[in-house]
Amino acid sequence: MSKRGERDEETLINRLIATGKLPAILRGLGVFLKDYANGASLPNTLWTDLGYGPDELRNDLWRRILHPDDRDRVLGSWERVYRGEADAWNGEYRISDSKGEWRRIRHRTLVLERDGRGIPTLTVGVDDDITELAEAFEKEKARRVEAEGRLMEAELLRSASAVASSALDTVEAADRVLAQARSIIRFDAALAWSNEGAEPACVGSIGIDKRCSDAPHETTLEAIRTRQSLIVRGGEASCSFPARSRLCVPLVLRDKVVGALDFLSLDEEAFDGASLRRAMSFGETAAVALANALRFGATEREAMTDWLTGLGTRRRFEDRGKVIMADERCSRGASLLMIDIDRFKQVNDSFGHAAGDSVLTALGAICRSSLREGDLVARYGGEELVALMPAASAKAAAEAAERIRRAAELCEFPGRPELRFTVSVGAYSGPVDRSSPEAELARFLKEADEALYRAKEAGRNRVVSASEGRRRRTTRTP
Ligand code: GH3
Ligand code: MG
Ligand code: MG
Repeated sequence: MSKRGERDEETLINRLIATGKLPAILRGLGVFLKDYANGASLPNTLWTDLGYGPDELRNDLWRRILHPDDRDRVLGSWERVYRGEADAWNGEYRISDSKGEWRRIRHRTLVLERDGRGIPTLTVGVDDDITELAEAFEKEKARRVEAEGRLMEAELLRSASAVASSALDTVEAADRVLAQARSIIRFDAALAWSNEGAEPACVGSIGIDKRCSDAPHETTLEAIRTRQSLIVRGGEASCSFPARSRLCVPLVLRDKVVGALDFLSLDEEAFDGASLRRAMSFGETAAVALANALRFGATEREAMTDWLTGLGTRRRFEDRGKVIMADERCSRGASLLMIDIDRFKQVNDSFGHAAGDSVLTALGAICRSSLREGDLVARYGGEELVALMPAASAKAAAEAAERIRRAAELCEFPGRPELRFTVSVGAYSGPVDRSSPEAELARFLKEADEALYRAKEAGRNRVVSASEGRRRRTTRTP
């Protein structure tokens, strides 16, 4: 600063001193002065605002009105200044005002003079009352923690829902829903229920004996009936899992209760309002996940089952057939029958389509009862049925085919004695290369179809068997 500037400053200070306003300015700014030599002190307005006077400042009252949690720290720091280890002290503490309310003070002290032994004789300090500021800060911090918590919860919910929704199989979807719920709710065991049938059915569980899931708990039924989530504490343990509390959430989608989730805990106090709120939010997306899987399952079942005969469809035959061809049982080879109704067009033409349908249904039942449990039977085409018989020898297959042919021939329909039908069967038997099940299934189908063609050519109502290595023609006529 220039000499001129310094002079101006001095002039201004001298003017202020001359007016006698300087002490008032200092007090108002929170400055206080203490002369330890003669006990004189200049308290600031804060000190008087707290309801204390100059005498109390002189008597070092501040030491006694410090908050007990701050006392040791503050007095320790002051001790260092007193001993000459430091000339200044900065910090925050709480002191009580004359009414007993805690005020938070931001404080700075500077030693201006010391005596020959180094003891401070003149100190100047500044105090700011930051009580309101600190309260606002704490409130803001709590708000931020809460907001962050909610954000994290929302993110958890979002990712949990995404994972839970990605499964299409009902059981897998239920398992994923429960596994993902773990990141959102604390529980010891959980059950997932589907409400598709007449009674809720357990479709998934974690941490609990499956036997517990035979019948839903009354709380689950109540949650489903009232469409309300509920927490139940205490009560009898209904199964091998000694639940002390349970949280049940109905899974509602577009006004329909598609299922429910049960969270069980060994701790009676495990569930509170916050876990209920989180479980309900999670339940919204869990409902979508479960409903999707249930709908997909129903569509799949429809696509896999022929509505007329109740047999598997061609799709089911191809899906399951591949699995069977790769199965250990096929290490002993397999047989495949292709069964076709003879002159079925004529049956339809003479007796009507409905009569044709009953013939098809009857043939389905004949095939089912003529084959073993492990054989795969399907309606392959319009009036063509197919049966894959793992581990069945050429002889066993020919016998089964003959049983079917014979049963068809003898089949009668109540009230329609004139309605009769016969079938031709092409059978193929051979060893299976289990390492290429799909190609093997196609090969067996082709071979059996060729045998069937020969059966038709030879006059129908007969079984033609073919097997690996040699082609044998078995013709049976009535
Ligand atoms: P072939 O002895 O050579 O097998 O003679 P076909 O008349 O049985 O054979 P074709 O392939 O000429 O006719 C099959 C008939 O099966 C034609 C079709 O109307 C009938 N059909 C296919 N699906 C159904 C069905 O679901 N119900 C009924 N009633 N008839 C069906
Ligand atoms: Mg036919
Ligand atoms: Mg046909």
